[in-house]
Amino acid sequence: VRRQLRARGVRDAGVRATMAWVPRELCGARGLAGEAYADTPLRTSHGQTISQPFIVALMTEAARLSRRSRVLEIGTGTGYHAAVLAHLARAVWSVERHADMSQEAGARLRDLGIANVTLVVADGAEGHAPAAPYQAIVVTAAVPAPPARLLNQLDLGGRLVIPVGDLATQDLMVYERTPAGFDARSAGPCRFVPLVSPAAFPE
Ligand code: SAH
Repeated sequence: VRRQLRARGVRDAGVRATMAWVPRELCGARGLAGEAYADTPLRTSHGQTISQPFIVALMTEAARLSRRSRVLEIGTGTGYHAAVLAHLARAVWSVERHADMSQEAGARLRDLGIANVTLVVADGAEGHAPAAPYQAIVVTAAVPAPPARLLNQLDLGGRLVIPVGDLATQDLMVYERTPAGFDARSAGPCRFVPLVSPAAFPE
């Protein structure tokens, strides 16, 4: 937390404390416990990766969560980032396209005693309308452009944090809903696996 997060500008003490609390090795593939705290993406049991801690912290900070926030995550993966979000927010909905990954993530969250995450198996490009609007939407897979469905499920003042670009490199974009529309800014470069969807990168 000190070397990888504070030294690199993650100022939010709540985010840093949460990152220190969520056990990262729980979420990596078995046998990876030794590298679980290095600042690199971790390989998981399905050949997917889990983001480096700095990026998880950067995205979470950009989401600016409070105890009252209702958060939508797209791309449950291991459930690691969902655990971080759940620790800071009131409730989290997390959408994953692979049912088996979602199930494994659910078991990990239960082991951590986290009870405010609802897992959904669906195409995350559609968002999750039943629980909208959200104060924050965090997308942990890359898109060529922010899906209109996700922007529309943001509350006024809510933020969509999403990697936007091509398959090789992306900008971590933050869209904030204002009375006039959306303010956009880049929080820096990043690299994520693609959001697989007819609305983003087709399979
Ligand atoms: N947040 C995760 C890392 C996500 S990796 C963690 O903390 O571990 C990206 C995830 O997005 C993968 O699990 C992938 O299966 C999922 N994904 C890709 N396209 C998707 C889509 N259209 N809808 C939902 N999930 C998708």
